[in-house]
Amino acid sequence: MRSFTYERARTPAEAAASVARHPDAKFIAGGTNLLDLMKLEIETPAHLVDVQDLALGEIEDTDDGGLRIGTLVSNTALSAHPRVRRDYAVLTRAIQAGASGQLRNKATTGGNMLQRTRCAYFYDTNMPCNKRKPGSGCAAIGGVSRQLGVIGTSDSCIATYPGDMAVAMRVLDAVVETVRPGGDTRAIAAADFHRLWGDTPHIETALEPGEMITHVRLPRPVGGRHFYHKVRDRRSYAFALVSVAAIIQPDGTGRVAFGGMAPRPWRTPEADAQLPGGASAVIAAAFADARPTEDNRFKIPLAERTLAGILAEARS
Ligand SMILES: Cc1cc2nc3c(=O)[nH]c(=O)nc-3n(C[C@H](O)[C@H](O)[C@H](O)COP(=O)(O)OP(=O)(O)OC[C@H]3O[C@@H](n4cnc5c(N)ncnc54)[C@H](O)[C@@H]3O)c2cc1C
Ligand code: SF4
Repeated sequence: MRSFTYERARTPAEAAASVARHPDAKFIAGGTNLLDLMKLEIETPAHLVDVQDLALGEIEDTDDGGLRIGTLVSNTALSAHPRVRRDYAVLTRAIQAGASGQLRNKATTGGNMLQRTRCAYFYDTNMPCNKRKPGSGCAAIGGVSRQLGVIGTSDSCIATYPGDMAVAMRVLDAVVETVRPGGDTRAIAAADFHRLWGDTPHIETALEPGEMITHVRLPRPVGGRHFYHKVRDRRSYAFALVSVAAIIQPDGTGRVAFGGMAPRPWRTPEADAQLPGGASAVIAAAFADARPTEDNRFKIPLAERTLAGILAEARS
């Protein structure tokens, strides 16, 4: 690991201003993703701004019946919160399908949303990777791509966004609240938060340099039955090959988002509209523009079977 300077911020605005002021600075929260990347010299920040002392560790009810989650709320605390378990169960299930108990104790809400891809070539500094080193090429295109994306990818990068929690956040229509280096705040819909790779795969979210997540807001609950099914190569410590987050209403309508398939949690209005028609209609709508590789073509029927299982359970 390369040397770096370090400070503990006292307010969110101070943290954002400090990251913007220092060249090559990064926020650090739980550190469970960033420190791994620093040890491998994939991330080499010259300055770390630790946000762990900020007063952003609460979960509060909002006036409109929703929930406002501080960015420092641990994954464990969020998944166990009584209102999350009762009204947003898809979120509890998604979080508990991710990582391990120890990691979830340390991992924060904001840090989880911002974890980086698990593409094996991104982690191998001997290989070309446009995301790690812009303009260097992509070793995954023509390489081993079983774990990688089938839709929303580009000629520059075919990686996926790897997390579970954000797939539930997407199906819940969450909103990310931020503070910018100048101290002003803004709200970004989950739908717009993770970018498609295009020709700049190193820019992964809508956040501007120095912009810090302060909260994630959930709208008032929508009812229905909540599901998160994750398919992976082994039961513990593995990222999703395919995951499906769904909220199904008694009349068969609902919402569905897919993980492990794309640069961001994948949800489309066309796919939501097909839910009463069954899994194959949903998959046809959601993945009409898919560009799978020979290695990962299997993910589309796997997603269909996973969703079919959910729909059968919802009817039971
Ligand atoms: C062995 C292992 C298995 C795992 N398995 C899974 C899994 O199955 N599913 C899953 O979803 N995840 C999994 N994870 C990932 C884990 O969930 C993330 O590492 C964790 O959620 C990141 O949170 P953190 O607080 O530690 O983030 P950090 O490592 O501190 O930060 C991550 C990134 O977010 C930035 N950041 C942090 N907070 C903010 C903020 N408030 N505003 C702006 N930027 C910020 C940091 O600068 C950094 O770039 C696994 C991790 C490991 C090590
Ligand atoms: S798929 Fe993306 S992350 Fe993986 S090697 Fe190619 S550019 Fe890098």
